[in-house]
Amino acid sequence: MKCPFCEGNDTYVVDTRTLKDALAIRRRRLCKNCQKKFTTYERIEEPTINVIKSDGRREPFDVNKIREGILKAIEKRPVSSEEVERIVAEVQQEISKRFVLEVPSSLIGKIVLEKLFYVDPVAYVRFASVYYQYDSIDKFLKELRELKKRYLQKDKKKKGNKDATTK
Ligand SMILES: [Zn+2]
Repeated sequence: MKCPFCEGNDTYVVDTRTLKDALAIRRRRLCKNCQKKFTTYERIEEPTINVIKSDGRREPFDVNKIREGILKAIEKRPVSSEEVERIVAEVQQEISKRFVLEVPSSLIGKIVLEKLFYVDPVAYVRFASVYYQYDSIDKFLKELRELKKRYLQKDKKKKGNKDATTK
């Protein structure tokens, strides 16, 4: 490892620490030439998953694209950035759990939609309108009606659970 200060090649590890989730190791290195210390991190390389687009083209999975889509959908909605990061992490986790090499882009959208459903109805509709690309008002209204039905069911379920836990 080259020293970032003097570009000397003679550096050695003076301290090694495993980070709390054990997924990374932090090393302090000392340069023999200029005596300065610097830090390196060793991480497990995430395997690259390819996204299959609707036209069949492939591109490397990019978590930033998911974040951007969600941020657009929640604009001016009461959703915190922590919540956004939580959704992003959950989507990423779900994808790496269910897919090894390739994932259809349509499925990523579906997973995001499922998460947004429980976070904010307006964000859900916004994301859905991009995802499904409604070409008619009828299709859009149909989706809204179904969304309303799902929300009513969700509330019922919530009440049901509450009753069950208080008994
Ligand atoms: Zn140096």
